[in-house]
Amino acid sequence: MSSPNVPLDEEIEANPTCIRVYWWIAHLLGVGCVIWVCRGLSQRSIIHIVFDVILTVLCAYLYHALSFGDPGFVPLPSPGMAEDGGASTKAHLREHKEDPMWCLKCGIERPIRSKHCKHCKRCVMRYDHHCGWLGRCVGQYNHRRFWFLLISETSLCVFTFGMCVVGIVGGVQSSAAWLASNLYPVAMLPFLLVNGFFALSLCVMHTGVIATNTTSWEWLRRSKIPWFQHVPPEVAAPWSLGLCRNLRIFFWGDPRRLRYEAPTADQMKGKRASCCDECVSSCVAG
Ligand SMILES: [Zn+2]
Ligand SMILES: [Zn+2]
Repeated sequence: MSSPNVPLDEEIEANPTCIRVYWWIAHLLGVGCVIWVCRGLSQRSIIHIVFDVILTVLCAYLYHALSFGDPGFVPLPSPGMAEDGGASTKAHLREHKEDPMWCLKCGIERPIRSKHCKHCKRCVMRYDHHCGWLGRCVGQYNHRRFWFLLISETSLCVFTFGMCVVGIVGGVQSSAAWLASNLYPVAMLPFLLVNGFFALSLCVMHTGVIATNTTSWEWLRRSKIPWFQHVPPEVAAPWSLGLCRNLRIFFWGDPRRLRYEAPTADQMKGKRASCCDECVSSCVAG
């Protein structure tokens, strides 16, 4: 969802309402295409339509839950805490103006691995990226749900693409008649191909990120992240606990209870050069 050579912070966000309308039109066209292909309505066709509708409803639920949910916003200081009208907070901010761990916009000390998002106007824990399609950040609380959305969207594209290919009718005499009979599925094929490839690529990328307990932001902007300045370049994933534990924590752990600390020099001593080496070796070692 990021254009090459464009810094993440400088991306211009599209209007979220337009994106949501586009999302619904695209998915309703997909459902309509499957119904059109199965218009004979044999028992098998009805099963295909029901499966497609269930998958679409699942995507819609995940999409909207992500769009309006909490990605892991860092709590703001309570107004009641500042009995001096915020004077101490302002003085504190002046004092920490140069401290990269302080967010001057939120007025808080940022936890490690968090980042301020200018679109959401909040700091987000274990920041991954701001998703223009969702109009929301992907962070510590919603990264798992985002991965399931990518899997669901990829499956929906593959299924609809398969139905379109199977549903194309042959044996028609003229090309005009053939096109008239197959216009809907043929028109959908390039659209499904592009979107399916896009969703699958993101799915593969995020699976790699999850397997190494890194984030897209850490992966792409490592040289600009303050706490990576103390991490040796050969240490690819300082928070990785091995493939199995990374996956277990990501898929079964409670993201609201996860807290990260800067890795110590001792913890980084045994880390391998590449993410893959580190994951596999830690996993085998238990
Ligand atoms: Zn902030
Ligand atoms: Zn954001």
